[in-house]
Amino acid sequence: MMGVDAILPGAVLGVMGSGQLGRMFAIEARKLGYRVHTLSPDKDSPTGQIADREVVASYDDEAAVRDFAKGIAVLTFEFENVPSRTIEWAAEHCIVRPAGRVLHVCQHRLREKEFLAGAGLPVAPFRKVNKAAELAVAAAEIGLPGVLKTAAFGYDGKGQRKLLPGDDLAAAWVPFEGAPAVLEGFVRFEREISVLVCRGVDGAMATWPVCENEHANHILDITYCPARIPESVAASARALAERVALALDLVGVLAVEMFLLADGELVINELAPRPHNSGHFSFDASVTSQFAQQVRTICGLPLGSTESMRPAAMSNLLGDVWLDSRTGTPNWAAALAIPGVHLHLYGKADPKRGRKMGHITATGDDVESAAQKAKEARAGLVT
Ligand code: AMP
Repeated sequence: MMGVDAILPGAVLGVMGSGQLGRMFAIEARKLGYRVHTLSPDKDSPTGQIADREVVASYDDEAAVRDFAKGIAVLTFEFENVPSRTIEWAAEHCIVRPAGRVLHVCQHRLREKEFLAGAGLPVAPFRKVNKAAELAVAAAEIGLPGVLKTAAFGYDGKGQRKLLPGDDLAAAWVPFEGAPAVLEGFVRFEREISVLVCRGVDGAMATWPVCENEHANHILDITYCPARIPESVAASARALAERVALALDLVGVLAVEMFLLADGELVINELAPRPHNSGHFSFDASVTSQFAQQVRTICGLPLGSTESMRPAAMSNLLGDVWLDSRTGTPNWAAALAIPGVHLHLYGKADPKRGRKMGHITATGDDVESAAQKAKEARAGLVT
């Protein structure tokens, strides 16, 4: 149902963060006739290139944040590590979706795990660790192997270390000194999956088909959608993601990353209260993409169908593709010549190893052939 307070096309939508996720949000918002403003510390950003207005300011710049919020109808995020007080300043001038409290939970591993465990949702055993002595106690309680992670600002495996039985824990703690951390039990998973879920202002919810994710060097490499898992497991994963969205009282889009164990058990690894890299397939293969749904949810509009039109796969394009190409320019024509392949580039000028510069999506009759195409198209870029 469309509420009386729906934010209708023509209004100005604001997004904090200005990377590729904001860029794809801005593209979908503009398709619907909205105007888009973005605020981040970066200039000529992936989002700024598409937005009507790019404000370059620190998230700590109160005057700039308040001014930005006065010029928009609703604020959303493409990046969850926005300081809480920044969101509080904005909330005095515009609607904020998802709410600041959702970001507060999701931007800190310990708060996130405590929230999930408190809601009765499955997570790996974990302990808070603030000093070397606490690490020894946590390791004894949970048992090793385990994974030590910084509580804040970690992503793509940054600020993480696997600990094995017999490791020198005092030495392992040294790089973590000075910031809160979490020790998690190591999960012997069979697959990594993610579920994108969206929830409207009226509480209506929907999930996309489950994604299966393969990582390389801790960075997402390939997503298969649908995941190659039994239908009953997929249904449980989708139901679990809906429970998370409900527990958070989310308005917006949320990614729930999970580990799937050999016996079919699911363990939640991480939440991202925004569209997610693993949901990029939806831009080309779903009736409604995760970004279009982000627009709809924050504006109080009805949700679109999350049905997939075809099996799909995504391969990420890191700066390595540029750096490994003889001329420094990937062979775009080779990828574009493959039927069913879509190329997405984020407008970033400076390729670096490990930096996300774009992605490829491919559709096929089945997910294996789609993945084959997405991998081949990527391999063909480097000549
Ligand atoms: P994260 O930054 O928490 O998403 O972790 C990055 C990657 O490290 C995950 O995608 C997993 O492949 C691996 N990982 C993280 N936590 C665990 C865990 N508790 N047990 C096993 N593998 C993990």
